[in-house]
Amino acid sequence: MQKKELISLIDKMCKELLLIIDEQEREATVVQVANYLKESAELITTVEEEKMSLAGYAESLFHNAYEDIAKKSLASYKQTNTNIERLTELHENTLEQCAKSQIDIPSLTNRFNEIQDHMTSEVMRANKVISQLTSQIQELEEKTNIDALTKVFNRRALTTYLNGLCNNKKLPFNFHLLMIDIDDFKQINDKYGHVAGDKVLIYIANILRKTLRDGDKVFRFGGEEFVVALNRVDTEHCIKASNRLLNLIRTNKLLYKNKTLQATVSIGATKFVQGDTPDSLLARADKSLYIAKSNGKDQLHTENV
Ligand code: GH3
Ligand code: MG
Ligand code: MG
Repeated sequence: MQKKELISLIDKMCKELLLIIDEQEREATVVQVANYLKESAELITTVEEEKMSLAGYAESLFHNAYEDIAKKSLASYKQTNTNIERLTELHENTLEQCAKSQIDIPSLTNRFNEIQDHMTSEVMRANKVISQLTSQIQELEEKTNIDALTKVFNRRALTTYLNGLCNNKKLPFNFHLLMIDIDDFKQINDKYGHVAGDKVLIYIANILRKTLRDGDKVFRFGGEEFVVALNRVDTEHCIKASNRLLNLIRTNKLLYKNKTLQATVSIGATKFVQGDTPDSLLARADKSLYIAKSNGKDQLHTENV
């Protein structure tokens, strides 16, 4: 890590921390500040260990902090909303009781109505803020977990997912990982242009997403490579699913600007074994993929399955 980068990261963290303290409803507690510092220190340590980009880490650090704040404000607004609704109910009951007891106090009724109007508009305002915040959080989450082009999960999400899987004490039964790479994609770009290439990426991602089962996950690993996580499927199903994907991609066509685009993919598959790490899983799938390519592309190769 460069000294300049380090200074800029610490500067950003300091500003972020001040912002968090500012935005707390009440005073920020020592525990909150300590937690933030502890989390930041841990993140900086892993930057070195995993050799990830500093910018990416800083972004994830600030993103998490922002998300935390947004979620807290959302909870607070929801609480306000519930409180006001409770008050409205109370006033309604009071009015009803007054009427029943035949206490005719018109000015009191007017006053109550005024308060009720005020509260109703408060509820409406709070509801508006809640829906705005909800969609902001959704957008934020999508921005960091979803690949902007293909709308499948991105590599960051894959890292989180595989870390969770490998840290799980119970052996994930029958978990298979597919590494999928589009064949001769460079030629598609060269022949039809980069935009057409992008359309092919979206089209393949959609086939993957639509063909797989609900529990399965599709990630864009980078460039023209995808990773698919097949959950709770035996080897036979993994091979069947992979061949179904190969066949669908081989036989389908994409029409783009009066041109027919066609692509094939190669698939490398591997099965989770006890003691696997994200790196060991990905390395085995990658090795499989390499063999599938060497054997002539448009096919599946399985490793340790
Ligand atoms: P192979 O069958 O061996 O995989 O050959 P290939 O041509 O698919 O592989 P190669 O690694 O030579 O080329 C990959 C190409 O993918 C090069 C790069 O320009 C292109 N690419 C990577 N990301 C994108 C993208 O987001 N959009 C487009 N249009 N092209 C991309
Ligand atoms: Mg590739
Ligand atoms: Mg390729």
